[in-house]
Amino acid sequence: MRPTSSQEPTGPRLRPALEGIPSYRPGRPAAPGSVAYKLSSNENPYPPLPGVMEAATAAAASFNRYPDMMCSALLTALSERFSVPVTHLATGTGSVGIAQSLVQSTAGPGDEVMYAWRSFEAYPIITRIAGATPVEVPLTPGEEHDLDAMAEAVTGRTRLIFVCTPNNPTGTAIARPALERFLDRVPSDVLVVLDEAYREFVRDERVPDGLEIYRDRPNVCVLRTFSKAYGLAGLRVGFAAAHEPVAAALRKTAVPFGVSQIAQDAAIASLRGEEALLERVAALVAERSRVRSELLEQGWTVPPTEANFVWLRLGEDTEEFAAACSAAGAVVRPFPGEGARVTIGEREANDLFLKAAAGFRKGR
Ligand SMILES: *Cc1c(COP(=O)(O)O)cnc(C)c1O
Repeated sequence: MRPTSSQEPTGPRLRPALEGIPSYRPGRPAAPGSVAYKLSSNENPYPPLPGVMEAATAAAASFNRYPDMMCSALLTALSERFSVPVTHLATGTGSVGIAQSLVQSTAGPGDEVMYAWRSFEAYPIITRIAGATPVEVPLTPGEEHDLDAMAEAVTGRTRLIFVCTPNNPTGTAIARPALERFLDRVPSDVLVVLDEAYREFVRDERVPDGLEIYRDRPNVCVLRTFSKAYGLAGLRVGFAAAHEPVAAALRKTAVPFGVSQIAQDAAIASLRGEEALLERVAALVAERSRVRSELLEQGWTVPPTEANFVWLRLGEDTEEFAAACSAAGAVVRPFPGEGARVTIGEREANDLFLKAAAGFRKGR
């Protein structure tokens, strides 16, 4: 017989660590039926490239089968493209999936995971799911990582540090000397994760390629994704480059068969069609310059951005601004009380947004 207790059971016991964890908030979709552009999730606005679409449809014909669990063909393609040994590579269900595996592999209760704030909103969530303690180091007034403050905040309990460059949502990227000085200061038993989700949009030559940085630094892991420039956000595939113990830990902790065959084959086709793809990225970079210049002309303060979005620190005006943009047909991403992140989209979308921004300023 079931032992009776004086208290009624309240349901399955969940880990207290989960209490109060905010849920991941996706960017709002454009309202159905209206003429509206979604500038809220940093997606690539272009439809899939022809070769990529064919690879995905061909793979879809066998989705009754499990995918290649090791992602062998994709790992080979990545290894060739980026000149990284296959043993240093791991794939995952988007780079968020890999980031979660990295936290799981390094940190638990009592350990600290550090990142700049504000930065990518998945970091606090995956840190707290692991039961680890988030250490958030404020950005500088110029919306950049405060790497000196971060180095000083390292303790004996620090296990992992996320460095998001370019930073989501501010767009600022870290130059080589500053990054190297920081890495030299971090103890070698602390894993530093360079999250380069927007690497393909970087044009500032002072910003280093993490894949060069990690080579002689066994405590550095680089995260890349097919979701942004490559336009495969809906397929969930990203990859990491790191030295063997870290790459091996990623393979151990990955969700088995997490990356579908459709995603694997589409990613391979994207690497093959990279030239056409990077032309589109170049067009977005040109639009980024146009949007930022025009915002500056309108009188806004906009941090220099190396990503496919711009950041406006609006404080208390954030939600009103986002509503005004939505009403004008451009859905942006508000962070209430802080600011709005606006993805660079197609020209028409950017024009709608710029018009809304100008109108908002005049109304002040
Ligand atoms: C979008 C984004 C990712 C990538 O997410 P996926 O899981 O690969 O879709 C990772 N890091 C940052 C900072 C991002 O903005």
